[in-house]
Amino acid sequence: MKLHEYQSKQLFAAHGVPIPKGEIATTPGEAWRIASELGGPVVVKSQVLVGGRGKAGGIKLAQTSDEAEKVAEGILGLEIKGLPVRKVLIDKAADIQEEIYLGTVIDRTNRRAVMMASSEGGVEIEEVARTNPDAIKKVIIDPFLGLRDYQTLTLAKGIGLPSEYYREFGRIARGLYEAFLAYDASLAEINPLIVTSTGELQAVDGKMVLDDNGLFRHPNLAEMRDVDEESSTERAAREAGLSYVQLDGEIGCMVNGAGLAMATMDIIKHFGGAPANFLDIGGGAKAERVATALRLILADENVKAVLFNIFGGITRCDEVAKGILAAFEEVKLTVPLIARLVGTNEKEGREILNRSGYRLITAVTLAKAARKAVAAARSGTEA
Ligand code: GDP
Ligand code: MN
Repeated sequence: MKLHEYQSKQLFAAHGVPIPKGEIATTPGEAWRIASELGGPVVVKSQVLVGGRGKAGGIKLAQTSDEAEKVAEGILGLEIKGLPVRKVLIDKAADIQEEIYLGTVIDRTNRRAVMMASSEGGVEIEEVARTNPDAIKKVIIDPFLGLRDYQTLTLAKGIGLPSEYYREFGRIARGLYEAFLAYDASLAEINPLIVTSTGELQAVDGKMVLDDNGLFRHPNLAEMRDVDEESSTERAAREAGLSYVQLDGEIGCMVNGAGLAMATMDIIKHFGGAPANFLDIGGGAKAERVATALRLILADENVKAVLFNIFGGITRCDEVAKGILAAFEEVKLTVPLIARLVGTNEKEGREILNRSGYRLITAVTLAKAARKAVAAARSGTEA
């Protein structure tokens, strides 16, 4: 579960991280009141659960409370990356000299939390990792020892922070790590952590992702869940009982079982392709669910071929085949479709597909199916 900027910053502040004074507004009038109470210039910030709000016009400075009201009205009417803006944070504007990145995530390879810092703050860390990986400094945190002073010093020196900030930087890093632990987060990030012209460090942005499996320990945080968190695709998938994660490859995957879905993605990669999604249609997939899944996959413009990999156990291949045909009645098939149906009622399933008159590519083994899908996605035709 993702938390909003204002929620994350409040949790960070509870662990000693300095944040700007500010309040949430849901109407332009409230924005005006908050801005006049804060006095002086403010920054009006859309609270939506996506990054890059600044670039999308969701963050604006306002010099007066009248301007804050006007700016808030504009931002409250926006939709950012498909998410409606329902709240804005009105923060006292900061005088920014430097922008630093500071974040903690779980590093699965090391089986530890790692803390990362970069002098390239304000930009998404993935972007820095691509363009300037050397600018990111990392320390691996031993869960029994915690974050040590020498580690925060390593980070501060590594990003070229002047020595007069070492102590305060260390304090903020410890606060961030404490918050990360206290709320069972999988990510806690300050981007940017700023240095002001008067020489103070301050977290002007905050982001937290909480481990859903730990939420029962934090009922008050569970209540913070934003119903607008999901994209319309993710919501449609959840409501249909599908596990769906959009990726950026060109081969749409429709698979029953999470393990088989992972294996399918691996084998697509192995043959030089890239999966467009992870999708587990679950056990005993009924026609309607298959149709919904196919609709979701084909709605993705990147998809150049669709690979069905169904292993019939509880799931019956004939049911899945009917689902595929039902889906074709609503969704026009614009890309090659490769179907591998094996297991319970596979013969009936294949017959249903063959009788349908649709031109489908079939394969018996997963390796052959994946190879055909990769070839089809490349040429846009049958393998
Ligand atoms: P994001 O785009 O969603 O990551 O939102 P951020 O809160 O990180 O804001 C984006 C950028 O807006 C920051 O990197 C800053 O450059 C700028 N910004 C944010 N708050 C302030 C502020 O109080 N004063 C000034 N001058 N700039 C700000
Ligand atoms: Mn940011």
